[in-house]
Amino acid sequence: AYTAPDKMAVNGHFASVGQNGDANFENGVQVIDEDKEFNPDLAKYLNYSGVSHAGFNYHLISVFGSQSTGKSTLLNALFSTDFSVMSESERRQTTKGIWLAKNKSASTKMAANILVMDVEGTDGRERGEDQDFERKSSLFALATSEVLMVNIWEHQVGLYQGANMGLLKTVFEVNLQLFLKDRKSTSRSLLYFVIRDFLGTTPLQNLRNTLMQDLGRIWSSLSKPPGLEKSSIDDYFDFAFTALPHKLYQPEQFKAEVAKMATRFNEGRRDPRRDALLGEFEGGIFLSEYHRRIPADGFSHYAEGIWDQIVNNKDLDLPTQQELLAQFRCDEIMREVIVGFDVAISPLETQQAEATRMGKPEVIAGLGAATKAARLEAIRNFETEASRYHKGVYQRKRTELESKIDTRLKALFASQLTAAHKDGVQQFSDAVSAAVKAGQKKGASYDFAEIVKEQKESAIHRFESHAKEAVIEGLPWSNYKQEMTLYRKDLDKVSGQLRRDEMRRLATRVERWVRSKLNDSVGLEFNALGSGRGGSAAPENGDRPSERETWDRIWALFTSTVQEAEKRFADRAASFDASADEVDVGIWRLRRKSWGVLRSKIDEEMMEGNLLLKLRENFEDKFRYDEAGVPRIWRPTDDIEGIYTKARESTLTLIPLLARFRLSETGAPPPLDRWIGPTPATATAADEEDLTPIGGVDEDEGKSLEEETTILNEAKRQDLTVRFKKAADGVYVEAKRSAIGGMTQ
Ligand code: GDP
Ligand code: MG
Repeated sequence: AYTAPDKMAVNGHFASVGQNGDANFENGVQVIDEDKEFNPDLAKYLNYSGVSHAGFNYHLISVFGSQSTGKSTLLNALFSTDFSVMSESERRQTTKGIWLAKNKSASTKMAANILVMDVEGTDGRERGEDQDFERKSSLFALATSEVLMVNIWEHQVGLYQGANMGLLKTVFEVNLQLFLKDRKSTSRSLLYFVIRDFLGTTPLQNLRNTLMQDLGRIWSSLSKPPGLEKSSIDDYFDFAFTALPHKLYQPEQFKAEVAKMATRFNEGRRDPRRDALLGEFEGGIFLSEYHRRIPADGFSHYAEGIWDQIVNNKDLDLPTQQELLAQFRCDEIMREVIVGFDVAISPLETQQAEATRMGKPEVIAGLGAATKAARLEAIRNFETEASRYHKGVYQRKRTELESKIDTRLKALFASQLTAAHKDGVQQFSDAVSAAVKAGQKKGASYDFAEIVKEQKESAIHRFESHAKEAVIEGLPWSNYKQEMTLYRKDLDKVSGQLRRDEMRRLATRVERWVRSKLNDSVGLEFNALGSGRGGSAAPENGDRPSERETWDRIWALFTSTVQEAEKRFADRAASFDASADEVDVGIWRLRRKSWGVLRSKIDEEMMEGNLLLKLRENFEDKFRYDEAGVPRIWRPTDDIEGIYTKARESTLTLIPLLARFRLSETGAPPPLDRWIGPTPATATAADEEDLTPIGGVDEDEGKSLEEETTILNEAKRQDLTVRFKKAADGVYVEAKRSAIGGMTQ
């Protein structure tokens, strides 16, 4: 319902309202057109004239009075505005409506940002028409303006029935109607009478008294709403008066008086020494109590709302209008503020989301500095603009803004901590592994516990510095206590894992040592069998009981070797704070693995070829050497057969002996089950995973200890016996031949 520009041609001007750009604001802006439509370009005009961001630092004046009493002429003279003026020649009625323009005077004696509303067409009274517009425009002016200027001819003063008196009656009525609802705000207005064509014959003081009497009569004639019957005119209004000479007859004086009058449009205080009712001022006429306290950036929206209520004959309720305005503007300001916040924060959110999506949460450098600055700026900007509005609404909206902002900052903060956590744990694990590797490379023994301690300290330090940087002070959610606890827990978990890895490496080293030890010592033991004299532990006297004790010696060698290994293992493990349980599990594993090592060493020695060779050597030793270890030279008279039989039988006893790992004293297998012991309660599945089952130890194996310690089965034994006998027979025949040969030579 916006009026087309061609309907607004006034006195040859195109009274456009900014549709074609700022240039059309030269004449101000038509706030309400003759069709009683509000023009939302008012906001653009306030922007154009630089008032929008003035906050409360602006003033609003409305000018009333009969048509063609030189109002527009006066305003243009006072404020260097360009309100249209009826030309002398045409004398045609100016358009009805309300125009607004900003003071363009360069005078430094005037307040900043004075806005003037020229209310036109309040002249239909005599013709009995258009009292409706007069009423509506008066309401609008009172709801918005600090000062109501009433233009009046000197010769009309005292004419109680005059047009202006009707206007003033309307003003008083709507004032009562308006501020009945808003008694708390004690809104006052200044009625500023400008007496035109002042001749100077009647003193201004007298004119003023006459006017005040008339006003009093009007006021008492009003039917006042209940509760306000006793109210007086000065509860709502202050009064000021200026008299101006005839502009055309006394142009110089007119100019001088207008210049004087202009300086009254400044901030001022009530003069306590003068008659308060008549509003004598110190400084200017703009008292702070006249101000309607509508921030400049919300004025257009407020004016529109007010006009909408007025034009639709609704009860105008200013406090409600102010609250609605506050909601509208606070929302608008919030949106603007969030746009700025987005510029700073959205890229960080995107960066984090992207990193998380790639599965590599990223610690954003300087996140805290950025979020703190963005938060501070958003809230400060909101506060600057929005705090001028209704306090309750402002507080509520501020809380809303904070929660909007903080929801996003909280997510950023949480992601940052998550990234610092993951990063920190990974770095810790990598750093420990690298230090261990470096230690291994150097070959020197490194202190695993020390490495872990150092790296843990620096990991905690790193996390803390990231977290601290991200904290926004003063916000209860912005702390990392719980996350720090979780982080420490994770570091402990990882160091536990790293320690178990280190234990495994240690165990592997110890096992390797056991293997090499057993290789030597058990190898020697089996080699001794080949000598036929009972191995290393054989008594010097050449007795042979030691062959029967071969397994005793191997068992003893084995257990003492493993015992030594256990000690090495336990000592080293203690150096990196392994728990007693962990050491127990390690030793249990070591025993089992060592048994495997021994078992495979035995198997290697007992491979058919090896064993046959050993038996043959054993036999030959017994057959070819006498008791004193001297080689025999066979003579035909020798009891070759007897010696052969004895040696062969002796060696043959080795086969059942070696076939089964038995201790000589008991004839039973070694106490492998007792020696290994039960599976420790703290052993995990991972601890057991790579272990080879052992018969008689692992019950569900279905294999007995006897079977576990059986080295050669029956078939192998028979086969071995046959082969050995053949070999022995060969040696015998050869000896026999050599004995005969020796005789014939
Ligand atoms: P408005 O309708 O009240 O805005 O009056 P205008 O400013 O358009 O002026 C109406 C007529 O009054 C014009 O012809 C002016 O020249 C004339 N006028 C302006 N100032 C004065 C004045 O001080 N005294 C008299 N008598 N006429 C004036
Ligand atoms: Mg005019």
